[in-house]
Amino acid sequence: MGSFYVENFGCRATQADGAAIERQLADQGLSRASTAAEAEVVVLNTCTVTSSADHDARAAIRRIHRLNPGARILVTGCYAQRASEEISAIDGVSLVVGNSHKHQLGELVAANGLVSPDSWIPVAFLTAPDGVVQGDAAVRRAPVIVDDIFAHTQLMAAPVFDSDNEKTRPNLKVQDGCNNRCSFCVIPYVRGRSRSLPLAEVLQNVDQLVANGYQELVLSGINLGRWGRDLAATRDRFVDLLQAILERTSVPLLRISSVEPMDWSDELIALAAASPRIAKHAHVPLQSGSDRILRHMHRRYRPWHYEDRIQRIHAAMAQAAIGADVMVGFPGETDEDFEQTRALIERLPFTYLHVFTYSSRPGTPSAAMPDQVPVQRARERNRILRELAASKKRSFQEQFLGSTLRALTLTQIADRRTEALTGNYQKLWLAGELPANRMLTARIHSVEGDALVGVVE
Ligand code: SF4
Repeated sequence: MGSFYVENFGCRATQADGAAIERQLADQGLSRASTAAEAEVVVLNTCTVTSSADHDARAAIRRIHRLNPGARILVTGCYAQRASEEISAIDGVSLVVGNSHKHQLGELVAANGLVSPDSWIPVAFLTAPDGVVQGDAAVRRAPVIVDDIFAHTQLMAAPVFDSDNEKTRPNLKVQDGCNNRCSFCVIPYVRGRSRSLPLAEVLQNVDQLVANGYQELVLSGINLGRWGRDLAATRDRFVDLLQAILERTSVPLLRISSVEPMDWSDELIALAAASPRIAKHAHVPLQSGSDRILRHMHRRYRPWHYEDRIQRIHAAMAQAAIGADVMVGFPGETDEDFEQTRALIERLPFTYLHVFTYSSRPGTPSAAMPDQVPVQRARERNRILRELAASKKRSFQEQFLGSTLRALTLTQIADRRTEALTGNYQKLWLAGELPANRMLTARIHSVEGDALVGVVE
């Protein structure tokens, strides 16, 4: 019938959606092209978490239209949900589909066939007036299909692989959306309410990946720790999901991606510490160490709650990787607020940080807050935290010199070496050209740049 190419932007949840879109298009009989330049239908699965994410998506539309002017460019994802009309006016766009209708993208493409881009009309949706906004007759705009995201309950799930190590570590999205309203965050407005993949479907996906030989699976979600709360038929919580996966599948290693601090219950920490099949890795978003700023952010914990959770994780798993997302330059963040963040980070056993500079998102409460922090000051704070994180990482890595760690091989790199990832989330370079997806034990002898270096035992 034709060929397609999906280009993804943004977080792991968006990558997982992209994998599900590929599956939908393949189910409609389209074949996957190896580049956007060769495809008849190009899907841009966008992110809108910062203004530069929006900019990247617009630049990609222009680039693809220039390289492949005959392609139908279909724009979906979070930016399409937030600013569909803005995107529909960009030259070259054939159709804009919000997250609200992303699960029907395969049908949309099938309904339109491979006719000329200008005649793309969402035929299948003309009977669903709530979902359709027709193009403006005066300005040439692509048709838009977008609806109230809060009215939608679908969850698209398909395992996804990192582009640089496609043979290892599939990522399984088991939860989407978020019921919180952090004042800086646009995600609830573009992804809707929290919803979970039912347990039976999770187990089925895990079984399939294990049967295909994968050694490590990453469980992910937008607010992963809330898994199960929307499933009225059961009282299962995230910790029950983990228990069930451990008991009812033979997955060798399960890695938990980001979980909000107050969802790190004592029960979850105990399970993660006790099971050799759960990677010793906790990613716990912090955002700020200032109580005043956390309140303005509408975050639901205080710095002392956060500190308590991290100390408990560290006490239970001394060798665990512990990481956090931190935001600098939130409106009204004073030097004193920043110092509280820096001091909290300094005294906690973090092994890495993702430091973000605040980016104002239209429609979020913080966009209207006074006292926006000058960019230069925010950048300076970002630099200070990144340097602090690098020195913490270095001391964490040095404690493993001379000892052994379990790791999964990823890909061969230069100088006849192989890159691997340890259970506690350290990049590891091993001597020799080893096949991907092999779980092994390595003895660490040095640190080179940001990687451990070792030999297979
Ligand atoms: S917890 Fe807050 S920051 Fe995270 S997705 Fe929900 S609203 Fe956004």
